[in-house]
Amino acid sequence: MKNSLHNNTKLLGLIGHPIKQSYSPLIHNIASEMLGLEYIYLPFDVPSSSLKNAIKGMVALGIKGFNVTIPHKESILGYMNNLSEEASIIGSINTIVNDMGKLVGYNTDAAGIIETLLPFIESLTGNEVTVLGSGGSARAVIYVLIRYIKPSRINIVNRTEQRAETIRSYFSEKMKYDQFKVYELFPPELLDVLKNSAAIINATSVGMFPEIDDSIITQSSVFVKEQLVFDLIYNPTKTKLLKLAESEGAIAVNGIKTLVYQAAKSFELWTNHEMPVDKISDVITAYLNT
Ligand code: NAP
Repeated sequence: MKNSLHNNTKLLGLIGHPIKQSYSPLIHNIASEMLGLEYIYLPFDVPSSSLKNAIKGMVALGIKGFNVTIPHKESILGYMNNLSEEASIIGSINTIVNDMGKLVGYNTDAAGIIETLLPFIESLTGNEVTVLGSGGSARAVIYVLIRYIKPSRINIVNRTEQRAETIRSYFSEKMKYDQFKVYELFPPELLDVLKNSAAIINATSVGMFPEIDDSIITQSSVFVKEQLVFDLIYNPTKTKLLKLAESEGAIAVNGIKTLVYQAAKSFELWTNHEMPVDKISDVITAYLNT
């Protein structure tokens, strides 16, 4: 129990289903404690059938903000009074700010992804990038690529090709970018597509704890030296995909920076305070590696 809990303590939380895998309570409670702020962050397991009531409860109880995770990131949009520009383009939210009863939806995954890709912008601009996956995080990745990186082409690879096609037409319309190619997992020509990509970004959940022996790509021969391989997964800190990529000399980046910076952006929206990102990254990395 936090020492600072008293009648001025403000409530933050996470809604999703399931939520027990989330590191957000740890991150936000440690950050709040480090800064001496009067916030507590709690996880709420909310199935889709209770989403509407959970939102009503949030407003009724004056909860300052929520993170939103699977499966509500898209379905919750309709309950917002307002959306940030990014959230409305991406079409999914992971953060809600309760501004005196008016709910504003944000997508801070985009901020975490930008921060992670920042050191690589020069090497990616004007080159081909391959995105594996077509869920909520793939949407945020594609938004960041089009808006900030401007690759010559974005290859979208997904198990369910139709979902990748939906994303292609969505972003072609929303962001007027049409340099997409869509692939199902895994036609033979994908080998060359992957080799020719300046970056391969995994936005699927394949390889995530506890299925740590799985990998969305199983052949190391698709990776090339100095190619960026960015896996949004942060648990484990080194997925099988990243190990395969490193074995061929690729630059392997995990999802910890994205995790911490998306949390930092949400934290700032709720509290107006900057999260101590370096300290939080150290805590999370140590925690995940024990
Ligand atoms: P999501 O919306 O549920 O999408 C999951 C994606 O993974 C879909 O494209 C799905 O393909 C694919 N997939 C799932 N199981 C598969 C399998 N067995 N074989 C092939 N493809 C499979 O999830 P999300 O929100 O985008 O999250 C994806 C991953 O990113 C998760 O591991 C999550 O933890 C991670 N993430 C990390 C951060 C961070 O801060 N680092 C932020 C957001 C997400 P289908 O379309 O065919 O179902």
